[in-house]
Amino acid sequence: MEKIDDKICPLCGQANDCKAHQGNCWCMDIKVPKELLEKVPEDKKNKACICKSCIDAYNKG
Ligand SMILES: [Zn+2]
Ligand SMILES: [Zn+2]
Repeated sequence: MEKIDDKICPLCGQANDCKAHQGNCWCMDIKVPKELLEKVPEDKKNKACICKSCIDAYNKG
């Protein structure tokens, strides 16, 4: 089985800068759009954070 890297954004494959494993992460304060979360492959949902640039890109349309 493929190992899921929780430091890699599941949408763009870049580092997501997630610090959840250290206790606190920016992704816990930010509201990730539902439409964006739905794009995350099923096996990576709730395992790897979406990176900030994907969220920004989505918010800009
Ligand atoms: Zn991304
Ligand atoms: Zn995170």
